[in-house]
Amino acid sequence: MSMQNINVALIGNPNTGKTSVFNQLTGLNQQVGNYPGITVEKKMGFCKLPNNFKANILDLPGTYSLNASSIDENVVIELLLNKNDKLYPDVVLLITDVENLKRNLLLFTQIKDLEIPTILVINMSDRMKSKGISLDIPYLEEHLKTKIALVSSRKSLGINELKNLIVNYKSISTEPCLNASSIDVEYFDKLRATFPNQLLYKLWLVITQDVNFLNLERNEILNSFTKSHSDLKRLQQKETIKRYQFINDVLKNGLKIDTTIATDFRSKLDKVLTHKIWGYVIFFIILFAIFQSIFEWSKVPMDFIDSSFATFSALADENLPAGVLTNLISQGIIPGIGGILIFIPQIAFLFLFISILEESGYMSRVVFLMDKIMRKFGLSGKSVVPLISGTACAIPAIMATRNIENWKERLITILVTPFTTCSARLPVYAIIIGLVIPDERIFGILNMQGLTLMFLYLLGFSSAIFSAYLLNIILKVKGKSYFVVEMPNYKLPLFKNVAINVIEKTKSFVFGAGKIILAISIVLWFLASNGPGQNFENAEAIITQKNNVTSQKNGSENLENQINAYKLENSYIGILGKTIEPVIQPLGYDWKIGIAVISSFAAREVFVGTLATIYSVGGSDNENTIKNKMKAEINPITGEKVFNFASGISLLLFYAFAMQCASTLAITKKETNTWKWPIAQLIFMSSLAYFVALIAYQAFK
Ligand code: GDP
Repeated sequence: MSMQNINVALIGNPNTGKTSVFNQLTGLNQQVGNYPGITVEKKMGFCKLPNNFKANILDLPGTYSLNASSIDENVVIELLLNKNDKLYPDVVLLITDVENLKRNLLLFTQIKDLEIPTILVINMSDRMKSKGISLDIPYLEEHLKTKIALVSSRKSLGINELKNLIVNYKSISTEPCLNASSIDVEYFDKLRATFPNQLLYKLWLVITQDVNFLNLERNEILNSFTKSHSDLKRLQQKETIKRYQFINDVLKNGLKIDTTIATDFRSKLDKVLTHKIWGYVIFFIILFAIFQSIFEWSKVPMDFIDSSFATFSALADENLPAGVLTNLISQGIIPGIGGILIFIPQIAFLFLFISILEESGYMSRVVFLMDKIMRKFGLSGKSVVPLISGTACAIPAIMATRNIENWKERLITILVTPFTTCSARLPVYAIIIGLVIPDERIFGILNMQGLTLMFLYLLGFSSAIFSAYLLNIILKVKGKSYFVVEMPNYKLPLFKNVAINVIEKTKSFVFGAGKIILAISIVLWFLASNGPGQNFENAEAIITQKNNVTSQKNGSENLENQINAYKLENSYIGILGKTIEPVIQPLGYDWKIGIAVISSFAAREVFVGTLATIYSVGGSDNENTIKNKMKAEINPITGEKVFNFASGISLLLFYAFAMQCASTLAITKKETNTWKWPIAQLIFMSSLAYFVALIAYQAFK
């Protein structure tokens, strides 16, 4: 009887043990060469199989998916598209690592859609016990429409069973796991109508990848189906999401990870960090330590920046010729830039900590830990990443919701993310806390100011979660999703990665938000230095006259202050602030704070800069810092400090809840494709802010 040859191709993600399986199958019967024309290594080997069969085994380069991004991946796609190639596999062995099944299965479902018999090889089975992993093989075989070989190439387990499966490859179903046309029904229907004899998924690969296809000219397909590059990218994303939805569904029943019976070191550490009590305690302590340090460590550099810019303003004022331009520089531009740079220490420290947590692998444990809680509120563990990124800025956070497959969970996450304390609130909090919360310690260690800051962060998170709970009940959107977490190994954070992240985030704040802040500072300066009508222009005469009538004793400096204050009151911005004063008075704010609150609806971080501008224009001594000026403000009606405990708390709460960010509204519109949701956000959050601030002020006053 002559030998029967079977062409076998080994395909899999890098590091799944493909080489080890190859070695197990072929032993020393290997040849190594290159693919024609390119430098990619081509490894071939053969192995004897039962019943007089023989396999030619081709070890293909490691690849994550069929969405080619490298020459290595192109090699795989071209081979699978070209049936005439003499290496075209009769059967594919798709190698996966039992610990990373979810990620590895993406490639599996793609290969299955090419209708090639594919055996799913689940490698590293020796680690299942120590990881507490169990698999329901019959269930997985049924739903993935394949045969599974559970092997350990390290311990030589399951290799003979694998060989038997190869011999019987003809009995393996070639039915796809997913229906390719479900990616975009209209598009794929058209494809099918034009090329009735071609496999849809092959056409799709030819369209999206820059690969050769012997039977069909790529241009021919593209000519009849022009889609823009971004359309194709969008379709590819859709494809990936559909595949993960499918994989999640299958793994939910086919894969169990019981961390309580796992025994290796990593698992032991996981057991503590994701423990149902200790996990939260540890997470809480870590958060607490982070916010304490942010406050303690930022104090010195922030004070330094604040006083430096006060000095620059004074220097500019003294040394430049008096005039509008000098005023613009010393009262508009310099305080404006100072108002941006002052946040750098806090933003940098926050991202230092966040990226250390991410790099070390701890953040994935937090996602896992939180998944159980989040589910109760209509969110998933995946919402934790946007919510935590929301501490930087709601804009990237809302964009990060794109990998939540379930639309309802995604919509809810988008809607509630702006409640988390973004870096733009931090400066507002920092300055108000510094003014109204005593710099004291409880029990000798707990800094009151740090504690307040932490409370505000927790308030942000809880509002987000509570709103999610409400939305989950109210919204009539259907959908389900499962979450399979794959936790990376713990590792020491790479200094370079952390540093790059901190620099990137700080830069994007300075140049992104900074531009708006500076522009608004200049507009404010203009509105504060000009006014309509007689009162503004004749301020000097009016005040001088008034003073002459009342008393002669006032010094010239005091006189100048009074003139400036009178001018501010009668400037454009003063008039605007005074107009809304009746509305905000019950919250404990005067018209100056009113101006800052209004301008904050463009972006919150403008608050401090606005007050800085207002007080620079309104006062004569530029040498004083913003904080001291705010501290000294007295309400002329009540005679009390403007920034007292009650108005401070009221302001903190107002900023915690109000939807004051034009860019966030824009991104919500973009991601939800309707103005309905951003408008709902604006109205709901801002009215909530008003009422909470009102209650707080009335209670503490
Ligand atoms: P490739 O990149 O897919 O070719 O993977 P390799 O064959 O180089 O293996 C990657 C890593 O996984 C190596 O450190 C192997 O020692 C390890 N490895 C491979 N197979 C097994 C296995 O069955 N069990 C265990 N525990 N480790 C394995």
